[in-house]
Amino acid sequence: MKKSFMSLVVLLAVVLAFTGCSKEESGASRTFVTIGTGGVTGVYYPTGGAISKMVNKKYDEYGIKATVESTGGSVFNVNAIMAGDLEFGVVQSDRQFQAYNGTADWEEAGAQEKLRAVFSIHPESVTLLAADDAGIESFEDLKGKVVNIGNPGSGQRGNAIDAFEAYGMDVETDISAEGLKAAEAAKMLQDGRIDAYFYTVGHPNGSFKEATSGARKAHFVAIDDIDSLLEKYSYYAASYVPVSEYPGASNEGNVNTFGVKATLCTSADVSDEVVYALTKEVFENLDEFKGLHPAFAVLTQESMLAGLSAPLHPGAEKYYREVGLIK
Ligand code: GLU
Repeated sequence: MKKSFMSLVVLLAVVLAFTGCSKEESGASRTFVTIGTGGVTGVYYPTGGAISKMVNKKYDEYGIKATVESTGGSVFNVNAIMAGDLEFGVVQSDRQFQAYNGTADWEEAGAQEKLRAVFSIHPESVTLLAADDAGIESFEDLKGKVVNIGNPGSGQRGNAIDAFEAYGMDVETDISAEGLKAAEAAKMLQDGRIDAYFYTVGHPNGSFKEATSGARKAHFVAIDDIDSLLEKYSYYAASYVPVSEYPGASNEGNVNTFGVKATLCTSADVSDEVVYALTKEVFENLDEFKGLHPAFAVLTQESMLAGLSAPLHPGAEKYYREVGLIK
């Protein structure tokens, strides 16, 4: 009895010691940071893994230990960074713009003035996949179908709503909209529970591999009536789905759509030292970093400074000035 009480006390002390230095501010020589990502079958999750790998390799030098958290996506990540629950998060470039300017999902909460940009990463396309047996050949065919537009914390939900708007359709009345997390969507399509789903994501990714290699055949659907979208929102650009990445899909040739970029965000409250170290390790080891996911193949140091709309975090800015990437 006495012994078990003592071990409980010891356990409690250990737990307290660890939680005591679990945040970025605390601990003189050790700093723990968490990177918010997305669903495990997307690209954000391995992206967080790749970034943390670069930083953690230099633990002896910086004393920084980065860990990755699977989350609901961009909107969740921005809000968790602002609440101080995450130090970093992968965030769609359109979401970064909206959060910093207090539009879309942040219209009520207002401008997220402490949001800071670190760098941008891979391109993401607003991707629509439909089951072959659902009778969806064009975007307009979504009318009356069961369509997953994404969970409220995701980036894709807003993109799907914008796409329907561009086609003069309404998610509330024209379709039966589901709000499932991206990681569940592929299985739901295969199980016949949904007809189609949207996912704003880099390619290739596990979600569409899973959804195009099951018994229920599926194909990507073009979202190409987008002139009004590109005109209205500066953060959207024309893009496509590289169909050859998914040999199981019933398409022939790439499918046009629109897209954004994945970016890394943080808060003005995160220290310059931590952001500097993380930025430096990714940029100085860019070839190794690019080898960690095929979606990173197109990255260059210069491209990683494009597509940012929140101010650069001073820690990242310091590194970019040092190496002459900005003047
Ligand atoms: N773009 C998605 C989002 O913001 C996540 C994509 C991914 O996990 O790769 O929610």
